[in-house]
Amino acid sequence: MDYVLKTNALCKKYKDYKALNGLSMNVPKGAIYGFVGKNGAGKTTLIRLICGLQEPTSGEYTLYGTKSTDKEILKARRRMGAVVETPSIYLDMTAEDNLKQQYRVLGLPSYDGLADILKLVRLENTGKKKAKNFSLGMRQRLGIAIALVGDPDFLVLDEPVNGLDPQGIIEMRELILKLNREQQITVLISSHILDELSRLATHYGFIDKGQIVKEISAKELDTACRKCIRLEVTNTQTLSRVLDGMNVEYIIVSDKAADVYARINVSKLTLALAKENCEVISMKERDESLESYYVGLVGGKEND
Ligand code: ADP
Repeated sequence: MDYVLKTNALCKKYKDYKALNGLSMNVPKGAIYGFVGKNGAGKTTLIRLICGLQEPTSGEYTLYGTKSTDKEILKARRRMGAVVETPSIYLDMTAEDNLKQQYRVLGLPSYDGLADILKLVRLENTGKKKAKNFSLGMRQRLGIAIALVGDPDFLVLDEPVNGLDPQGIIEMRELILKLNREQQITVLISSHILDELSRLATHYGFIDKGQIVKEISAKELDTACRKCIRLEVTNTQTLSRVLDGMNVEYIIVSDKAADVYARINVSKLTLALAKENCEVISMKERDESLESYYVGLVGGKEND
């Protein structure tokens, strides 16, 4: 598989605090990669690093195969557009003038493609209206339009639906899907809103305390969620040992129960447990949601 972005044991320290603590992630070409984590998990820090706004304390990443330590990284970064935190918009300018400004910043020889970008983000009819009079959703879309100048094939969006109303969220979702499907743009979206991401993402990276705790494709996640079996036993320590021996993925959910995310041979498992004096009290298939999968990985409470 081709990867647009790969990070290897990235660390970023702010004084003694490790905002990123050995983060390794892989964004496949063509993906909509949902970068999910609680507030304070380290999402924006990672995005600032790959955009070149800050330097890692240690570790490295590759963008289109170019190492972050290589001077060619600047060239690779030109293939990337980003909206980090609040979009950098001139509020006293129209949408068109904001875009023209970005063309000039990038030193592009003409305004080729400008009208197409405005149309793509559905701001083609905003005329003389200044950005300060735009809704939040329109501003967010203008931020994306600016990021699209220079024809990037990797778009990085930091919490793009934060603060948007339901209509704004739908428009943002449609835009991201369109960019991915029609323009073949790989998208990295950070969010702490799982439900919204689940309508978009083809891949997920779950981040907690500056580390990726799990990377999984939407397809695999679907399967994992469907195949979850809740096992209630008399001793979860024994269950852990036996499941480890069977090399299956599971999460201990209480002192009596575990969720197993794979097809298991029930009679083999029951026998193995019985040999170690552990009884199966109940076993039932659960239709697990993305949310409970996530909570199982990183716990339920916000860090802040
Ligand atoms: P997220 O985007 O997942 O909400 P951030 O990457 O913004 O998380 O922050 C990760 C952690 O690093 C937080 O605890 C935050 O307070 C801390 N942090 C971020 N930027 C700085 C900074 N410039 N100086 C000190 N601490 C910071």
